[in-house]
Amino acid sequence: MSNGFFIDVTRCIACKACQIACKQWNNLPAEQTTNVGSYQNPPDFSAVTYKLVRMTESIVDGKFYGLYFPDQCRHCLLPPCLLWAQDSDAIYQDKDTGAVVYTSETQKLKAEDIIGVCPYDVPRRGKDGLLAKCTMCNDRVKRGMEPACVKTCPTDALNFGKLEEMQALASERLEKIKSIYPDAQLLDADDVRVIFLTAFAPQKYHRYAAAFDARPRKTR
Ligand code: SF4
Ligand code: SF4
Ligand code: SF4
Repeated sequence: MSNGFFIDVTRCIACKACQIACKQWNNLPAEQTTNVGSYQNPPDFSAVTYKLVRMTESIVDGKFYGLYFPDQCRHCLLPPCLLWAQDSDAIYQDKDTGAVVYTSETQKLKAEDIIGVCPYDVPRRGKDGLLAKCTMCNDRVKRGMEPACVKTCPTDALNFGKLEEMQALASERLEKIKSIYPDAQLLDADDVRVIFLTAFAPQKYHRYAAAFDARPRKTR
């Protein structure tokens, strides 16, 4: 059944260590950005930012919360990007790990289409014409190592392992926190390899937090 992540958003302290570790492992440069009054930086995914700690300020039941969401590709079980591309040289799913991998052949794909079919608005086109996103650190995982972001997370918000183990861990943790956060939920848990647990409704975090069924998608 290969691999998956369990991301417990309730444990995220927005330290951004995962974002930096992703840059370091994948040799991705920093980006020039502007302070727009948010702790979130850079403001969005790009071809050199695969992991982004999103921050939303929300009032829930009369209380102020800074909600953190360490966003990334969900490595969908049936990836719409892969199904749309219909080109295994450009996008394929690693049978051993489950990673959805983009290759240099993505240069020949129409970026708007691939981005348009992703329910989470993840892939981005770089200046070199290639499409890019989280790789699941497939090079590390195939050597028995954890993804760089998981390895560096100091609070166990990020977890990685066999998909069925992550599904079980996610369900167990959901049960535990329900007494504190009655609206807690697992996001798209039957459709993706990156299962998020949120304390509140996903729409409180950002617009694509749980988007598998909520967003109209392109169909062939
Ligand atoms: S490293 Fe862990 S705690 Fe820090 S921002 Fe990332 S997910 Fe959150
Ligand atoms: S989240 Fe988007 S980019 Fe990632 S596998 Fe799913 S459809 Fe593809
Ligand atoms: S799995 Fe690897 S590529 Fe994906 S967000 Fe984590 S560090 Fe980045």
